Amino acid sequence: MNRISPKGHVAILAFPFGCHAKPVLNLVCKLAKAAPNTRFSFFNTLKSNDSLFSESKSEILDNIIPYNVSDGVPTNHVLTGNPLEAVDLFLKAAPENFKTCIEKAMADTSTQISCLITDGFLVFGSQMAENLDVPWIPIWIPLPCTLSAHIYTDVIRHLYANDGVDGQGKTLEVIPGLSTMRIEDLPEEVLPSESLFSHTLRRIGLVLPQSTAVVMNFYQELNPTLLENDLKSKLPKLLNVGFLSLSLPLPPLPPSESDATGCLSWLDEQRASSVVYISFGTVGAPSRSELVALAEALEAIDAPFLWSLRDNFKDLLPSGFVGGANKHRKVVSWAPQAQVLGHSSIGVFVTHCGCNSVYESISNGIPMICRPLFGDHRMTARMVEELWGVGEKVEGGVFTKSGVIKSFERILKNEEGKKMREKARALKEIVGVAAGPSGSALQDFRTLVDVISLF
Ligand code: UDP
Repeated sequence: MNRISPKGHVAILAFPFGCHAKPVLNLVCKLAKAAPNTRFSFFNTLKSNDSLFSESKSEILDNIIPYNVSDGVPTNHVLTGNPLEAVDLFLKAAPENFKTCIEKAMADTSTQISCLITDGFLVFGSQMAENLDVPWIPIWIPLPCTLSAHIYTDVIRHLYANDGVDGQGKTLEVIPGLSTMRIEDLPEEVLPSESLFSHTLRRIGLVLPQSTAVVMNFYQELNPTLLENDLKSKLPKLLNVGFLSLSLPLPPLPPSESDATGCLSWLDEQRASSVVYISFGTVGAPSRSELVALAEALEAIDAPFLWSLRDNFKDLLPSGFVGGANKHRKVVSWAPQAQVLGHSSIGVFVTHCGCNSVYESISNGIPMICRPLFGDHRMTARMVEELWGVGEKVEGGVFTKSGVIKSFERILKNEEGKKMREKARALKEIVGVAAGPSGSALQDFRTLVDVISLF
């Protein structure tokens, strides 16, 4: 592929933190299939590329070429462990690092870049596209309501400055599409903060309107009021191409991702809609005392559970909790989550509200108990609880034994849970239609293919 002359050369710049890069690569895989004569150069850090390209081997076509960019951490620099430090170092060096690497990709192929696709957080994409004289298409990975929070940052900061702490609990009525949100739901970076990440996010509202199109990791049917009544008027072309972290209908687990931890066969042994599935994603976790409270609540209720918990957290649980011979409990370090949530035995998902996890739950019609950890999780939890009505935030926002037991009882045993389950099933239907052959997501995806093929 390197030597033939491709019809179009799209550069994709990934944001290598949290679960941002995988959905972007998934979109690129679909684009590469739809535009087989176009070359897609995928720029990302070595660490993130290594894990993405080994995981998705079977879907990587020859017209996708990975390039490694530096993570921006200076040689001999020891990271403090504050996750924002790594993000800030990456962002500081990113414009120059990506530029150098793009020049290499153009030299490799003797082909100019024809279109620039970037993660929506990479706001320098706007200037870079202008310098290259190509269209810029940012991809927004989190929920659309979080994009509104960045577009309206100045209005929100003004409100915050006037109301301060007294503003807590007040809904953000004045901001289109955010009437169910409270100041305390917003990502920390939306309120005044000195980090480069916060400054970067503040620029989103200024630069995204200058793009050619904005791709949303979302189905427009899930929040038409916000998308139709506000965001569409603010952004040039809004393309809701559906959830990018998973294909729908959900395919069986590919052989390359075998169920090494035996989750699916264990679920086969459980009763329908009975199992509590717990996972806090790939980045954070609640404190030790909260994990213990959750473990105690799980012991107290009479329900089987499957807990995906990274190895470094297992020691924090009460002794004897992990392992043992109880066939109604299973703790693993990794679960094939999308397939787990698609299993008929799952009754409820205890989640930190990472967008991919929430999308996987919605796609499978599973109600959620939300324990948001940081960033956009609180806004997402509010959507789950108030807009969609398919889950609830745990009492007080943190795990206590009694609060978690109340949530379990409500969702697994009471009428409220039955209603939530019905709503979750209805939402699954909506997503199923939107993702189908005549659905809105495919139409928007085709428009995207047309846009990148035009240049
Ligand atoms: N995941 C998984 N198995 C696990 C834990 C997580 O497959 O045991 C996947 C999950 O399906 C989701 C992603 O990891 O696609 C986590 O992304 P999310 O946006 O929910 O959270 P983050 O890791 O970015 O905090």
